[in-house]
Amino acid sequence: MLVLRKIKEIEELISLKKQKGQTIGFVPTMGALHQGHISLINYSKQQTDITVCSIFVNPTQFNNASDLTHYPRTPEADIKLLEEAGCDILYMPEVKDVYPENDTRKFDFGYLDTILEGAKRPGHFNGVGQVVSILLEGVKPHKAFCGSKDYQQVMVVKSLVKQLNLEVEIIACPILREADGLAMSSRNVRLNEQERLEAAAIPEMMKLGNQILKLYGIAEAKKYISSVVATIPNMKLEYYEVCDAETLELLSEFNPKQKQFH
Ligand code: AMP
Repeated sequence: MLVLRKIKEIEELISLKKQKGQTIGFVPTMGALHQGHISLINYSKQQTDITVCSIFVNPTQFNNASDLTHYPRTPEADIKLLEEAGCDILYMPEVKDVYPENDTRKFDFGYLDTILEGAKRPGHFNGVGQVVSILLEGVKPHKAFCGSKDYQQVMVVKSLVKQLNLEVEIIACPILREADGLAMSSRNVRLNEQERLEAAAIPEMMKLGNQILKLYGIAEAKKYISSVVATIPNMKLEYYEVCDAETLELLSEFNPKQKQFH
């Protein structure tokens, strides 16, 4: 695997690969890699000739300075995992290479940026837009692979690609989970033993919440989720919402025919 630090080097290499007729798959990450990330590498390897992964903890998408400082960083282990997975190129830049100057661009993601993570983390999706546009314009992949764990982010990235007229197909891939059902996440290592045990209640309550939703509707499902969270010592509910899976419109009434995301 080639490890490159400069976007210029990536641009030159990719252009050579494309001249040879090879297709490029891209997996952008913030590192502290786990099998969820590796599943994206595998999708890319199945669907394209050359797989590029990026590891960059993007400062502009953190609206909380302490979260940025404490974000896990495990570069040696990441390189090993990527090599074992057969990734071809890793782009691992310094902040200066991605942002030679302050990025003051403001994107308009409309409604998408006002709800759920957008409402809770002001500026977060704008920062995602900044870094993803720079990475996509540098790597110029045919396909980029993103995790449905960050469902709203996938929609934001699709909107960005449309706005900037980028020629890339965004592929949403399934969520990989731990044996107890918790979605794999780089931040899970920040949970202590007790918190990690408690976190396993999330997929369980979501499953049951789903059944309550179908039987009794959204209000009852919300009540159920709030009541379960209230019994878990280290857990606080930010939100539980049921949305239209196509638009992320927040729903107040359950329609079994509508595809939902919650
Ligand atoms: P991150 O490093 O957290 O920015 O994630 C990089 C990419 O990996 C994003 O597209 C995430 O949605 C995806 N990802 C993270 N965790 C998982 C998971 N458990 N299953 C599938 N994809 C994931």
